[in-house]
Amino acid sequence: MPLTLTRTDLLLQRNFIDGKWCDSIGERRYDVTDPATGATFATVPDSSAVDARMAAVAAHKAFEGWRTTPARDRARIIKRWHALILANTDDLAKIISREQGKPLAEARGEVGYGATYVEWFAEEAVRTYGDIIPEQVRGRKLMVVKEPVGVVAAITPWNFPLAMIARKIAPALAAGCTVVAKPAEDTPLTALALVKLAEEAGVPPGVLNIVTSSREAVKEVVDAWLVDPRVRKITFTGSTAVGKHLARESAATLKRLSLELGGNAPFIVFDDADIDAAVNGLMAAKFRNGGQTCVSPNRIYVQDGVYYEFAEKLVARVQALRVGPATQEDSQIGPMINSRAVEKIESHVQDAIARGAHPLAGGHRVRNDIADGPNYYAPTVLGDASPEMELAGEETFGPVAPLFRFRDESEVVRLANDTPYGLATYFYTRDIARAWRVADQLQSGLVGINEGVLASEAAPFGGVKESGYGREGSRHGLDDYMQTKYMCQGGA
Ligand code: ADP
Repeated sequence: MPLTLTRTDLLLQRNFIDGKWCDSIGERRYDVTDPATGATFATVPDSSAVDARMAAVAAHKAFEGWRTTPARDRARIIKRWHALILANTDDLAKIISREQGKPLAEARGEVGYGATYVEWFAEEAVRTYGDIIPEQVRGRKLMVVKEPVGVVAAITPWNFPLAMIARKIAPALAAGCTVVAKPAEDTPLTALALVKLAEEAGVPPGVLNIVTSSREAVKEVVDAWLVDPRVRKITFTGSTAVGKHLARESAATLKRLSLELGGNAPFIVFDDADIDAAVNGLMAAKFRNGGQTCVSPNRIYVQDGVYYEFAEKLVARVQALRVGPATQEDSQIGPMINSRAVEKIESHVQDAIARGAHPLAGGHRVRNDIADGPNYYAPTVLGDASPEMELAGEETFGPVAPLFRFRDESEVVRLANDTPYGLATYFYTRDIARAWRVADQLQSGLVGINEGVLASEAAPFGGVKESGYGREGSRHGLDDYMQTKYMCQGGA
């Protein structure tokens, strides 16, 4: 099916370097496919280290001008970008759902969500205050200013093709940094459309550059930035393995890093919880984007006394979910991103069943007249999950909810923390003392207390332990793109 957009010029298939839309130097290209069918519907440049370096040179050249542009002017440009994103919501949503597989309604939600970060950082751009420190020695003035770190390389995943890149580019531009970006190979088109709108908003040439590359070429492109002393910061959302590679390889030039990496989110339901609220929270947190989010609950711990009630209510809701193509308005679970993703889900579920889990809903692929493609997986609930199963130790990244039983609070806190990761944790209880006690002990960057949807542009999003460091959103999100300069004036 052709992609019909109101603004056909938003379907860009080229790199953007130094204010010009261009092919890669080697003129290589790769295919962008629809996850629902596997059919190619666009091609984009398969860039090389040369393209990456050209982008870094352009960003470096543009830095001085952008850094010294008054904050109010930078803010106005970012605000215009925000307005253009909202004005083109439908087209952006169509591009997102076509290349990523998210149902259209969710894709529209992602545009709105991503746009909130752009608006927030436009507002924050004018508030990068420093400090005046009271005189410690007579005649010596102590001042602290915040400065942009310089050229930022942004590397993003496919699961939120608009929101992930928006929440990196917006604070970077607000801080006065310039950007080189590389979107995920599966979802480059949303990022290109977003950059087009930034160009229209008045972002000057060289300030925002983007290059696309296939999975095979990505190392070459990003490595060129890792060794480049002009690039002062890497901001990355993706797997822990790649995050560690970026940290290691950028050590030679000691770059700043923001790493938002994998999670293994626990979701805990205590005996004293409001069970209906917990089911609602789990549905929102687990089945959004087909379970392909880094904060999706991966281990659902349910206390003995409410295990059957919770499981029964959950199964009823999960069985009612409609699986279908992203382009169909009433679909709730679209196709998974690619065959690799479905194979991983399948192997996690089979391993769990082999080790004693019971499928209470789903547990298999789906292929029928509506979900007519290779990458659909049925929304699944597994009962009697246990710690030795693969899905207990590693993110499944799909619509699979494994239920683990537990006896008491100290046991579940130990189990929840028994992972190298620490991104999101959720728990449901009506006991306020327990709420504080448990939240205090959880090793997690984000904690949802009787709440399944945590992300907000006004709050700091990010992990602890091997889920990474750095924060996106809130004033902390802007700080990540700034460095501190202390100035001391004598004889004053
Ligand atoms: P996922 O498994 O979800 O695709 P990845 O961490 O592999 O997560 O991908 C996230 C982003 O990292 C994508 O933009 C991808 O192209 C990029 N990436 C993958 N491998 C590398 C690498 N070796 N060096 C730099 N970036 C990489």
